[in-house]
Amino acid sequence: MIDLRSDTVTRPTAAMLDAMFRAPVGDDVYEEDPTVRDLEHEAARRFGLEAGLFCPSGTMTNQIAIKGHTQPMSEVVCEQTSHIYLWEVGGIAFHSGASVALLAGDRGRLTAGQVASAIRSENVHYPNTSLISLENTHNRGGGSCYEWAALEDIAELAKRQRIPLHLDGARIYNALVATGQQSQEYGRLFDSISICLSKGLGTPVGSVLVGSREFIQKCKRIRKVMGGGWRQAGYLAAAGLYALDNHVERLADDHCRARQLAEALEAAPYVEYVLPAQTNLVIFRLREGLTEDQFLAHLADNGIKASAFGPQMVRFVTHLDVDDAAIDKVLAALQTVPQ
Ligand SMILES: *Cc1c(COP(=O)(O)O)cnc(C)c1O
Repeated sequence: MIDLRSDTVTRPTAAMLDAMFRAPVGDDVYEEDPTVRDLEHEAARRFGLEAGLFCPSGTMTNQIAIKGHTQPMSEVVCEQTSHIYLWEVGGIAFHSGASVALLAGDRGRLTAGQVASAIRSENVHYPNTSLISLENTHNRGGGSCYEWAALEDIAELAKRQRIPLHLDGARIYNALVATGQQSQEYGRLFDSISICLSKGLGTPVGSVLVGSREFIQKCKRIRKVMGGGWRQAGYLAAAGLYALDNHVERLADDHCRARQLAEALEAAPYVEYVLPAQTNLVIFRLREGLTEDQFLAHLADNGIKASAFGPQMVRFVTHLDVDDAAIDKVLAALQTVPQ
């Protein structure tokens, strides 16, 4: 089976498993796991921030950060198709008792002007704007990347207004590799960043939240109340350290393969449009007459899995377990779609 549903489906490589087996571990709730500590330090260092917190999922790192920054009766400014709003089970309301101000971005990307228009003024009727959250790359936006200048403008606005700025960086390494931006620079703009290790970086489990020492200390208590205090997590952290050292540059291969798929789809008569494939996600719309279910059934007959992404919409994701031979098979299957 060739699995293009998500970059979360990867299995650890033999070398990654070997690094996991050899990891020195301890009880992380006692802060005695040296491998977790190394991963948290390394992630923070790479993004120019002081401290890190290793968690089981990107949903948890996002939701902990949102709770850490906000208070009940306040409001989070984010894009209307952002993961924190659309795909985290209403966690902003559930965990933080906060409301959301939703903006319509360009393939998920906001401008400083849009963000400024959503910031609440002082008024007894209004929630206070307590957080601005961005997503890079943007999942629903087809893996779109922010321009550096746009991020700087939003960060400057956030600082001026004294509102914390969070980044859902589930696929931040895809954005860094695609744009050539430096991870170090991100720490100057963002108060907290959530980084997924189990997406393109290919680990079995885990995300890291990075921020100031004081903020991460607060977040550690929030992780605990969510039941996320874990013990010999160093076996999993070792996979993260291995991935940071070995699985970042290779993301360029995933991007190249995604582009090949996007080009074939653009030329296919049954495709209405393809969102620009800047990184490893390819989102496209099928013309009327071929439903997403029919299209996915044809792929399944050819040993290929992909995701329906709404009516007539399909998403392909390239990752560590999709090689050139797999792409050739997908390209062949795209040529034989019955119409
Ligand atoms: C996958 C993802 C997350 C976190 O997902 P988990 O499955 O909880 O690790 C967060 N944000 C974005 C944009 C994602 O794609």
